Amino acid sequence: MVVGAVNVDHVVVTGRLPRAGETVVGPAMVRHGGGKGANAAVAAARFGAPVRLIGAVGTDDVAAGALAELAEAGVDVAFVERLPEVPTGAAVIVVDAAGENQIAVGAGANAHVDPDRVRASLRAALPSCGCVLVSTEIPEAAVAAAVEEATAAGVCCVLNPAPVVPVVADLLRHGPILTPNGGEAAELAPDLATLAARSGAPVVVTLGGDGVRYALPGRPPVEVAPHRTTVVDTTGAGDTFNGVLAARLAAGDPLDRAVRTANVAAALSVTAPGARAGGPTPAEVAAALV
Ligand code: ATP
Repeated sequence: MVVGAVNVDHVVVTGRLPRAGETVVGPAMVRHGGGKGANAAVAAARFGAPVRLIGAVGTDDVAAGALAELAEAGVDVAFVERLPEVPTGAAVIVVDAAGENQIAVGAGANAHVDPDRVRASLRAALPSCGCVLVSTEIPEAAVAAAVEEATAAGVCCVLNPAPVVPVVADLLRHGPILTPNGGEAAELAPDLATLAARSGAPVVVTLGGDGVRYALPGRPPVEVAPHRTTVVDTTGAGDTFNGVLAARLAAGDPLDRAVRTANVAAALSVTAPGARAGGPTPAEVAAALV
């Protein structure tokens, strides 16, 4: 199960990112499916996991396309609510020649994901669920509902605190597996050992082109070297990482193996433009590991 945002991304590739007040020009605007929840769900489905997404879209003209694209990717969208009178979430993304990005999001329907519906959907689905992945571009009460339901049921729960919102600190006591990037980890605690001690659960920090560092409570951190690749667009690398990590944990992999697989999968995902493109299959990851 994935609980999170569904967006439509509007992407312009330019020579460099704009500074405040500046206009930069690229050849064309391209539209891709996006949103951390939806992207991770697609990555998990491409990795062979049966995936259900919990979230919300509007009833505007992009909503049906967004849902159809998810369904085509193998994601069950029965729990994605269609809300009247709110727009589907949208992101404006600028990508530079080095693949670095700047993103602004219009939350739209994502800001109306209902915590009670999240609880009801999860209760219906948790008995057959191996892992719940939650990200924070939806209301904090909905994030809390998802983490509480999953952990109370004893189901593996991965919380991607992107962005870091106040409820994340409260939710540490439920012991989700946290997957911040480097900046988010620094916002949550002075160091990795402190963060793992606070949650009593593994913390997996994604470090972009530097790979991954993870720690279990009371143990020294483990470094996972980056998988070297040609960077085209890093947008959604974290989503691919989280989707594949959750898919492998749901399949019963131990944490170390799941992290190493997700590290390679996320590296392969940055070789194609768009947040969802380039998300590899298990065979592509296996081939890259040879
Ligand atoms: P986003 O918000 O764009 O999805 P993020 O900040 O959540 O990204 P990152 O830490 O940038 O996530 O990247 C996630 C993972 O993707 C990294 O831990 C690494 O495994 C892989 N990755 C990202 N960039 C590179 C790169 N340049 N080379 C190799 N692997 C990369």
